[in-house]
Amino acid sequence: MDTILSRDQERRIRQKTKIYEKICEEYDQEIKLLKERTDYIAEFGYFLDLLTRPLRPSDLREKVGRPLIGLFCIQAPLELFYALGVHPVKLCSGSYSAQRLSASYLPVLMCPMLKSYIGSMELEDAALSGYDAVIVPTTCDWVVKMPEIVKETIGHLHYLELPHIKQNEKGQQRWLEEIYTLKQFLEQKTGNRLKRQNLVDSMNQFMNIWRLFQELIDLKRKQRIADIWFFSIANTFMLDDPERWAKNLEFVIKRLQAESLRPVNPYKIFLAGSPIIFPNLKMLHLIEQAGMTVCADDLCSSERIFPGATVYDDPSERGLLKALAERYHKACICPTFADNERRVNNILKITAEHSITGIIFHILKGCHPYDIESFTIEENLKAKGLKFLKIETDYVKEDGQNILTRLEAFKQTL
Ligand code: SF4
Ligand code: SF4
Repeated sequence: MDTILSRDQERRIRQKTKIYEKICEEYDQEIKLLKERTDYIAEFGYFLDLLTRPLRPSDLREKVGRPLIGLFCIQAPLELFYALGVHPVKLCSGSYSAQRLSASYLPVLMCPMLKSYIGSMELEDAALSGYDAVIVPTTCDWVVKMPEIVKETIGHLHYLELPHIKQNEKGQQRWLEEIYTLKQFLEQKTGNRLKRQNLVDSMNQFMNIWRLFQELIDLKRKQRIADIWFFSIANTFMLDDPERWAKNLEFVIKRLQAESLRPVNPYKIFLAGSPIIFPNLKMLHLIEQAGMTVCADDLCSSERIFPGATVYDDPSERGLLKALAERYHKACICPTFADNERRVNNILKITAEHSITGIIFHILKGCHPYDIESFTIEENLKAKGLKFLKIETDYVKEDGQNILTRLEAFKQTL
C-alpha cells in the first residue's frame, strides 16, 4: 500500500513539475509577445516584471512588508485593509495549463477562471493557507462553493455576505453591517484597532491612485494606449506596494501624454462580460487581429478594479465606513445583483460619449451570471441601435480561429 501511495505521490509531483513548466511557458510567451509589439515602451517594463510568474504569497508578502489577505471579487473595500496594516490581493488565474491540476476533482462546467486558480493553488507555496486570511464575498455560486471544494478551513476564511439587492435601504443596511463584521475580523487577525485617521489616510491614498488610473482610462478612450497594455497594467494592481505601483503608472501616463498622436481606429468596441486574466489575453489579441480597438470595458479585472471616488459628508468613522460600503456595493455592477440597471446605463453612457457602436460580450464557459444577464443586456442595447456580439469561450486556444472569423464579420456591421 505504502509503495502504491508513494508511486502516486511521485507521479503527482512529476505532473505538478511538468504543469508548472507549462504555466511558466504561457507567461513567458505572453510577455515575449507584448515586448515584441511596436508600441512597447520602457515604462511598461515594470508592469511586465510583475507578471512574469504566477503569484506566490510569500514573495508578495516580502515585497509589500505587510500581512497578506487574499480576496475574491471586488466588493471588499481596499481602503479598510490598508488602514489596518494589511495588503489585499485579488485571487484569480488566467493560465490554461493550471486547470489541468484541478480538472479531475472539479465539476466539468465550473468557471475556468476559478478552475485555473484552484489548479494553481496546488503549486508550491500558492495555497490559500499561504495567506494570512482570505475574504470571500458571496457573489456567484462558484465563488461561494470554492472553499468547500478546496477543503479550506473556515477559520482562515471570512465570508462577506453580499446582499443581492442593492438599491433598497434593507440591502444597504445589511451590507454596512457586513463591512463592520469585516472590520472586526481584520482587527482580530491583525491585533490592530481601526483608527479613524488611518482610514482617512488610506482613503486619500487610494483616491490618488484612482485619479491616476482614471487618467489611464482617458488615454485608452482616446486610443493613446492599446487595450492590451491597459489590461496588462490593470492585472498587476496590488501585485506590489500601491505607492510604488502608482509611481510607475505615473511614468507611463506622462510618457504616453508626451507622445505624438497616432491615427485612431474607427472600429471602436466596448468589451463587457467575464474577467480577462493574464496570461490569457486571447480575446484581446483576437479583437485587435480582427481590426477593432477596445476603447472601454466593464470587466472586474480591468476598468472596474477601482470602484471610483468615495464621497462622504460625515467624517466620523461610521460616516467613512458607510461611504465606502455604498461605493463598493451600490455602485458595483457585477452580474450577481438582481437590480442591475446601472450596468446597462453605464454601457449606454460610455458608448454615447465616445461614439462606440459595438459591444462585444465575453462569457467564460460556466460563468452563469454573465450568461444570464447577457440576454437582457443584448435586448436593451440593440433597442438603442448598438451592435452586439456575444462570444462564449473557455480557457483553450483551439477556438481562436472560429472567434476571429466571427469578430471579422462583426466588424463589417459597425
Ligand atoms: S464580475 Fe464576477 S468575478 Fe468579477 S467581481 Fe463580479 S462576481 Fe466576481
Ligand atoms: S462571476 Fe463568472 S467569472 Fe466570476 S467567478 Fe463567477 S463564474 Fe467565474
